[in-house]
Amino acid sequence: MSLGLEIVGMLGQTMAKVLPVTIALALLFSVLAHFWACNPGRPWWRKRELVTDLCTMFARVFRIGLLVLGAGFLFRIHDAEELIAFYDNGHGPLAALPLWLQAVLFLVLADFMMYWLHRMFHGAGLWRYHAIHHSSEDVDWISAARFHPVNLLLGTIGVDVVLLAAGISPNVMLWLGPFNIFHSAFVHANLNWTLGPFRYVIATPVFHRWHHTSPGEGGNTNFAGTFPLWDLLFGTFRLPENRLPDNYGIDDQSSFPREIAGQLAYPFRK
Ligand SMILES: [Zn+2]
Ligand SMILES: [Zn+2]
Repeated sequence: MSLGLEIVGMLGQTMAKVLPVTIALALLFSVLAHFWACNPGRPWWRKRELVTDLCTMFARVFRIGLLVLGAGFLFRIHDAEELIAFYDNGHGPLAALPLWLQAVLFLVLADFMMYWLHRMFHGAGLWRYHAIHHSSEDVDWISAARFHPVNLLLGTIGVDVVLLAAGISPNVMLWLGPFNIFHSAFVHANLNWTLGPFRYVIATPVFHRWHHTSPGEGGNTNFAGTFPLWDLLFGTFRLPENRLPDNYGIDDQSSFPREIAGQLAYPFRK
């Protein structure tokens, strides 16, 4: 089969998986936000810049396609059997560990690295790539999709590649994929949930919504993606009692581009 056809087929398959998952997330978070909205008012489908978020979501499908292609090229995989073998076994020192332990290590190590990378992206040098994620004024489950490709490359993808090289089985990453997709949509969802004592165990919607407020309101806190432990350890945890966050966005909101092309070009314009 020609390379072009292969890519089209792969994108079609990915799209066929992304679409039902997106619809399921949309239904779930619409019902939950109906009963437990953190910020009552505008439902997500009337969200400002919804088209931008939908575009970034589908741009992600292409990114996944490119990533699989890139891995195939990098590891010189030529046919389906090699691909299956590649995904079954890790390729580094951690590959000898049992898969459950690899899964735990992957969750903890990836989250630890992402915590520090996230803090770096809030610094002067990288902020312009991360500002796009913070430019959502209506934070909702679909805001989880809005990231600049450079942010993804130096963030999620970079961390995945490092752990892949350390020997974590690609299968472990594939199993945990659905959890990551669900959890990142969950922390952005318009919900007033703090999960009681579990607020210290796992990132919740209120925890991450505080991160999306302005720096004066607590925006430079709660950097953890999954485990608030990092914020507790490094002094960036913030969850005010009896108050909910309600004002999101960035300082130069009015001059920030609203459509996807402008947002992608934004970091290179200055
Ligand atoms: Zn951030
Ligand atoms: Zn966010």
